[in-house]
Amino acid sequence: MTIQDNMTDSAITSKPVALPDAQTVTEVQHYTDRLFRFRCTRPQSLRFRSGEFVMIGLMGDPDPRTGKQKPLLRAYSIASPSWDEELEFYSIKVQDGPLTSRLQHLKVGDQIILRPKPVGTLVHDALLPGKRLWFFSTGTGFAPFASLLREPQTYEDYDEIVITHTCRDVAELTYGAELIEGLKTDELLNELIGEGFWKKIRYYPTTTREESPKMGRITTLLKDGTAFRDLGIEAGRMDPATDRAMICGSMGLNLDLKEILEGYGLEEGANSDPQHFVVEKAFVG
Ligand SMILES: Cc1cc2nc3c(=O)[nH]c(=O)nc-3n(C[C@H](O)[C@H](O)[C@H](O)COP(=O)(O)OP(=O)(O)OC[C@H]3O[C@@H](n4cnc5c(N)ncnc54)[C@H](O)[C@@H]3O)c2cc1C
Repeated sequence: MTIQDNMTDSAITSKPVALPDAQTVTEVQHYTDRLFRFRCTRPQSLRFRSGEFVMIGLMGDPDPRTGKQKPLLRAYSIASPSWDEELEFYSIKVQDGPLTSRLQHLKVGDQIILRPKPVGTLVHDALLPGKRLWFFSTGTGFAPFASLLREPQTYEDYDEIVITHTCRDVAELTYGAELIEGLKTDELLNELIGEGFWKKIRYYPTTTREESPKMGRITTLLKDGTAFRDLGIEAGRMDPATDRAMICGSMGLNLDLKEILEGYGLEEGANSDPQHFVVEKAFVG
């Protein structure tokens, strides 16, 4: 076997090739042909705030001329909370996607590359104090909220957490639904935050294609008042005095929600300028 054959083989199987910033996969779970989650080891030195993202990836294919391989990296929200010993990621499978066409074949024991420089705006520091926190997500945009829902500060800082998750099909809601259900019996969180903390969560899943108990885009359900009626929010709108929000979806959803929230008088914040809501893209495209 030539050196080049060896490199190609390593790239496909993602077997150890002395990767820079290598972490080892410890668990893989597939939900649909488009979605999976995996866990991996966490570098001891990695500190991050729940809700942030990092660059992860695999070695790219060898350059046909030089045979050299470069890391193929993409932004990924860390789906596990800041206190977790391991890292969790919730991923799309894009069949012709440069990274996820291969990442979806990860197995326990494989290695991924993780650049330990966490950043992001979906963090508690970027919001002013409030009473009710909204997490608006579509698809894999749930990932940063999977982190924040397991972060004690979320329950210490707010009386109520409304999590909306919109997907095309019911099966695409499974990761979020199971995670929220699991909070009820999570011994560590119950110990850290106090039993019953999960009662603060109002989970509002909706589908846009497959029949489910609640159908429709969250933007429509907010605008026509349905979401507020369903959640028992009498004012029928969000209030800048009490409501805070984090948004993570497609570019289109983010822009539409931003406009709706600004219509309620909420202002967009950032790490350097905490306000009423923050936004991050779930993907580019
Ligand atoms: C800040 C940030 C955080 C991100 N966090 C996550 C995450 O936690 N989980 C995750 O799966 N992806 C996340 N992404 C998207 C991720 O960076 C990659 O785009 C994705 O992994 C696909 O990589 P790829 O190389 O296979 O295809 P790419 O060439 O990156 O994408 C190909 C096309 O697939 C579509 N696409 C890409 N990602 C998604 C997605 N997540 N959902 C629906 N359609 C998509 C887009 O139309 C895109 O043009 C994030 C992106 C950003 C900017």
